[in-house]
Amino acid sequence: MAAIAASVVVAIASAAQAAPTWPWLLLALAVLAGVVGFANRARLARWWRDARGPAWDAAVPGPDERLKLALWASGELFWDYDLERRRLHRMRADENVARSADITVHNREGDVPPIHPQDLPQVMQALRSHLQDESPLFMSEMRMDLFGNGTWAWVRVRGRVVERDREGRPLRIAGTARDITASRNAEYEHRIASEVMRSMSEAVAVLDWDYNFIAVNQSFSRITGYLDDEVIGQPLSLLNSSQHDRAFFQRMRDDLARDGSWSGEVWEVRKDGEEILCRIDTNVVPDASGQRQLYVLVLNDITEQKRAEQELRYLANYDTLTSLPNRSLLSERLSRAIVRARRENGRIAVLFIDLDRFKDINDSLGHATGDRILRAAAARVQQTVGAQHTVARLSGDEFTVVLEDIGSPQEAEQVAQQIIAAFNVPLTFGERLELAVSPSVGISLYPDHAQVPTDLLKHADTAMYQAKAIGRHTYQMYSESMDEKTRHRAILAGGLRRALERNELSLVYQPRMSLSSQRVVGAEALMRWHSHEFGDVSPALFIPLAEESGLILDLGAWAMRQACQTLRRWHDAGMAGLSVSVNVSALQLQRGDLSEVVARILAETGLEARFLELELTESVIMANPEQNADTLRACRDLGVSLAIDDFGTGYSSLAYLKRLPITTLKIDQDFIGDLTRDGDDEAITSTIIAMGHSLSKTVVAEGVETADQLAFLHGHQCDEIQGHYVSRALPAEQCLQFIRDYYPQSAFVAAS
Ligand code: C2E
Ligand code: MG
Ligand code: MG
Repeated sequence: MAAIAASVVVAIASAAQAAPTWPWLLLALAVLAGVVGFANRARLARWWRDARGPAWDAAVPGPDERLKLALWASGELFWDYDLERRRLHRMRADENVARSADITVHNREGDVPPIHPQDLPQVMQALRSHLQDESPLFMSEMRMDLFGNGTWAWVRVRGRVVERDREGRPLRIAGTARDITASRNAEYEHRIASEVMRSMSEAVAVLDWDYNFIAVNQSFSRITGYLDDEVIGQPLSLLNSSQHDRAFFQRMRDDLARDGSWSGEVWEVRKDGEEILCRIDTNVVPDASGQRQLYVLVLNDITEQKRAEQELRYLANYDTLTSLPNRSLLSERLSRAIVRARRENGRIAVLFIDLDRFKDINDSLGHATGDRILRAAAARVQQTVGAQHTVARLSGDEFTVVLEDIGSPQEAEQVAQQIIAAFNVPLTFGERLELAVSPSVGISLYPDHAQVPTDLLKHADTAMYQAKAIGRHTYQMYSESMDEKTRHRAILAGGLRRALERNELSLVYQPRMSLSSQRVVGAEALMRWHSHEFGDVSPALFIPLAEESGLILDLGAWAMRQACQTLRRWHDAGMAGLSVSVNVSALQLQRGDLSEVVARILAETGLEARFLELELTESVIMANPEQNADTLRACRDLGVSLAIDDFGTGYSSLAYLKRLPITTLKIDQDFIGDLTRDGDDEAITSTIIAMGHSLSKTVVAEGVETADQLAFLHGHQCDEIQGHYVSRALPAEQCLQFIRDYYPQSAFVAAS
């Protein structure tokens, strides 16, 4: 047997050498298979018709009835190949007939169509193995070009050696063949489809007509947490989250039924209960029977992507520190408000809010605390105006409120007052820290002052500056004259910068008298600016300008040096016991080097420290009592006295008052001015005196103008007074003269 097989191989091999077309042997077999392809009847029938070679029907005896039926019913093609003559015969039944009685069988002889080069080796291998008796059957699937037009069809061929010569060498081989192109393609497509589905990063689920899961891919399990055997057979509603009602899901199914597809974003719930936002694309596909619907659902988890998008949108429109709208969102909202107001003939107010001296607070308390103040301030403004109005943070300590639909300008002013009043209660941070911050507010109106957002904002800003200029902690409504004032301030600030070198500054001294000794014990040094361009400029105007520009550092040091020199001269002139008070501004204190400046000036002028008093306003000290305490202590350690100026107007914590090294309280002249007229002011004044004494402070009353006021203060044991009743502020020489001449003072004696 092995010998026979070997000889066949030799025969084939020699045939291959003799005629390079020998693979046609194999091709013939394969062709048969292709010819008999069943799935593509039309193609086979056509090939049969077109096949070359003489018709066989007459020459060959007809098949018996059973073979005929088998060919008709199975759709297979029968083939028979003569190995010696290289003749290929094939036979097929006409399948297009309905009844077995009508069956015609066609017999043909023809050439072998080409086999696809990629398939050829394995076809040969299968054939060889059968011819060598290694396999009982010749079986192979291959692509064949049935019509010689380059179109490959898949053919499955089965056959056996059916005749051998006396030596056992194969003579004929016969079998059946079938066109399996359609099922091969389907299988191929299926393989690709399942590979695609498997490797997709989107979750894919196939649902039956009742929306029960039939199949899911790996990404589905990854995204939803459900393994396939946990969901197959389960309804799609397994994934429904509480974010949508039943009606939502019903609508989705209705749309899908109507349109054949549905896309949208849906909150689904994972197996672990977590809700995820999904992008879902669903399509209806017919099932294999073509009669019922299947649903293919592609699901993408976009929770993170949405979150990132929202974050980006948030960053573009909101201030991250306070969570308020930023400038760009404000402009957008203001524009929309203007459009509405124009349509409805309405009025809009823009309130520009700036926190007074915030820069100083920020510099001295540090940015972390500054941030907390801004957050607290933002919350307070929003609370005051209500959630229905836009509050935005433009930058730093600048906030803007947009009030829509206001009836009158007064309404806007009322809101500004409410905002200012809301800040009368100090801002609190954590348990210990309390801070009094005051706002200055500027107001502009649409359509009264401007028509477009930028101008409205600009005008509100100008009005806010005006509010600062008239003393802060107040509001101003924009007027056209303000632009003029703003310009004027800018020019003034320029002039102030040159005031020192031009010798335009001077000090005047206001005497301070002790009520117990009835003597002038000292004087407060007050700065004056006589400008060559602008004439006399009030300290109420130029001191804030100097503070804003930082010039106050130079001016303050200059004033202190001047005051000390003057006092030194007075001492030398025989008035040894007199002291001098110098005003110190927030910036000088917050710089932290105040004690060094003071020490240097004392050393330069040779004045004893105990004769110098530094006056700091209540709000400056209390803005940051912890931080200021060190600086104040260092100054006190030098031996200078420390006074709280304008006491009673700010917000002092008693605890700090006790702890800080303060020596003197100067009651604000607002209270003194109304003494003997206003019961409240009398109560406040007497309380401050009593409290000051209980804390061992010297209490000074400022702005005393009448004998009645003096009598009240004397009656309540106030220590010292200062004011026009004693004397206005005077140039140094005149003041010295005044002090010399003052004692004994008959007017005072009369009053007491
Ligand atoms: P202040 O320190 O509270 O000074 C008292 C102010 O009250 C002075 O105003 C003074 O002229 C005024 N005054 C005194 N007695 C009376 C009175 O009987 N009736 C009335 N109505 N007013 C009286 P002035 O000189 O205009 O100074 C205003 C403010 O400017 C000062 O208030 C102080 O805060 C600031 N200032 C003045 N000089 C300096 C300075 O050298 N450095 C700093 N940082 N601030 C200064
Ligand atoms: Mg003062
Ligand atoms: Mg004062």
